[in-house]
Parts: sequence; C-alpha cells; structure tokens
Amino acid sequence: MLNDSTILPPVTLEETIEEIKRSGDKLLLRVALKASENELLEKKEIVKVLLIEEPERLRLLFKLADAIRRKYTGETVLIKGVIEFSNYCKKNCLYCGIRAANRKVERYRMKPEEIVETAERMAGLGINTIILQSGEDPYYTADLMEDIIREVRRRARTPVSISIGNRTKEEYTRFKEAGASKCLLKHETINREIFEAMHPDDDYDERISILKHTVEIGYIAGSGNIVGLPGQTIEDIAEDIIFLRDVGVKMVGLGPFVPASGTPLENHPPGDPDLTLKIYALVRLSIPRVFMPATTALGTLNREKQFQGFFAGCNVIMCNFTPEEYRKRYNIYNNKIPVEFYDTARRLRDQGWKLNPLVLKALEEHERREKEREMVS
Ligand code: SF4
Repeated sequence: MLNDSTILPPVTLEETIEEIKRSGDKLLLRVALKASENELLEKKEIVKVLLIEEPERLRLLFKLADAIRRKYTGETVLIKGVIEFSNYCKKNCLYCGIRAANRKVERYRMKPEEIVETAERMAGLGINTIILQSGEDPYYTADLMEDIIREVRRRARTPVSISIGNRTKEEYTRFKEAGASKCLLKHETINREIFEAMHPDDDYDERISILKHTVEIGYIAGSGNIVGLPGQTIEDIAEDIIFLRDVGVKMVGLGPFVPASGTPLENHPPGDPDLTLKIYALVRLSIPRVFMPATTALGTLNREKQFQGFFAGCNVIMCNFTPEEYRKRYNIYNNKIPVEFYDTARRLRDQGWKLNPLVLKALEEHERREKEREMVS
C-alpha cells in the first residue's frame, strides 16, 4: 500500500486537491473539498473511502491526510512516553491479555516513588507528555492517584495524561484538579452489541457518559477503537469515526486487534493494518487538529506500517518507559513490541520529521556515547 516510493515531498492542501481533480476521482475530490471546508463527511462517504483498494487512489487519500495534518498541526511528530505502572486489572475484557481471569500473568505494581522517578528521567529527554497507564487496579485509590499525579507534575514539570480505565466522574474531576491535563478512555467500539459482548463487566452507556464528562470538564480528552473485533463491519468503523468526531475528543488512539494468549480471543485473527491506515487518514480528515499516535498495536503487527502511519495522518508516537523488569509483564496482546525512545527518535529524524529540540539533543548525546563505545571495543 504505502511504501517508500509513495513518500513524496510535502505539498500543500491546495496542490493536493488539484492533483485529485486531475485524477478524475469524484469520491476523493468530494471528500477533499469537504475536508478543506471543514464540512462533515457522511457515513456513506466514509464507508466508500474505507473500501478503497486501488494503490493510486490510496496514495491520493494518504497524501490528502498528510497535507491536512501538516496544515493544521505542522511537521512535528510528538513523542509521548508511557509508564505502565500496574498490570493488575479487575476486569475481563475478552481481548485483553492482562484480564483478571488470565492466571498466567505475573502481576506487578510500581511504587509511587518509582513512578515519579521514571517520569523525571523521561522529562529530561524532551518527552511531550507522560502517560500513566494501568489496568483497572483499585489498589491505586483516588487519593493515591492524586498524590502520584501531583508529584509527577511537581518533579517532572511535563503534562500528565492518565489512561486507567473507568473511574467515577468525581474521580476524573479530582485527577484533573491534581494536575492531569489529558486522559484517554477508549470506547473500543460504538457498536453496543459488540461492546457488550467484549466487556462483560462494563456498561456501554456509563463508558460513553464518563468519556463525555472528561471532554466537558476540559481535559484534552482522548478515545479510540479497536479494528477487527469479532462481528465488526466497515459500517461499524465508519460509526466509530463519526462518534470520535462528534464527541469532541482531541486525541484518538486506535489500532488493530492483536490476539493475546490465555484470552477467549486468542485464536481470533488480527485486525488489518492496511485498513487501520485508511482509518487514520479518515480520522485526520474528520478531526483536522487531532493528536493521533501511530500505535504500538499497529507496530506489533507491522513495524514499517506503524511509521507509514505518519504519512497517513498520524502525528504522535508513544515510547515505552516502563522499567525493564515490568515491561514484559504488561502483555495486553502477544509479542507487543518495545517502542524504544532512541530507536524511535532516530527513525523519525531520518524520515525528515521535526522533533522537539530536547529530543534531538538527547538523541545526539546517545549517538555520541554509542560511537565512543564502538571505538573502545
Ligand atoms: S482492556 Fe483494560 S479494563 Fe479491560 S481487562 Fe484489559 S486492562 Fe482491564
């Protein structure tokens, strides 16, 4: 689909629309004109775009998403860092490797001081946001989470995002007051039937209601869906995109389903990476200023496609800073890749993306140390 030969020098949105006009592709032209005028795409248009398979049409679609991303969010790829601080979870989502019923998981919890020290190290590398992520673990009470958020903010002085699942509206309000400015609560699928089948312990309406609350109280709120759940159709995915647009989130984290051993879905086939790239493009067309990572799940299925995500509308990547001793135990799905900071920063720089100057400085310092080590050995 996308390959190096399709990665062209950036052009403006206007030039891209002219190229689409010349191609005679009526659907893409209509979609491009709507996106450029901030008009809402209709469900049937989204479905038709999701069904595009011809390489030349896909090239134009990604070029359009890329032009919109560059127009509204610039050339910079933001590197966020995640600390997976607990793999305990009280829930049993069918697709998840750390669900409570999976007895094979060796559980861990990081101590608050360990979390804060890890966050401090990340801040020194120019990480844009520190994401505190865990299963739904009641050990971290609202009081304890508030303390951790406050201390991370005080010592790392970097925006804090939380990704800790369903908490009450009151708790989300408290975490915001404690200093968390961003939060991610994925809706996973807007198809009620599939949601209920996948989440035996969750209430669909409650999840949506909490998500709306996080938007209303002023978080830079995020949500997202899984691509390739059992029974999911292209129409469902179009509805997911429309939901993300209409609910008012500013961050979207979506990736393909990846099977996890020891779960009811361990033999279900993974989601389609190429379809995921098309969804990235459509989310960018629908929410032009969105912060959207090229996700680890996509990289786990196909590392190259994760980086192609940056040419299909993505502008964020999440590097993993979970201490080594815990990292392998946060297996929400099989063979989860370690998105390492230096490797990621190097690839992005070499692809020509702009990075935070602090990230570049840290990378140069790392490369200097690498060279010194080579000379010694
Ligand atoms: S998806 Fe989240 S809430 Fe569900 S089992 Fe996994 S960690 Fe727990």
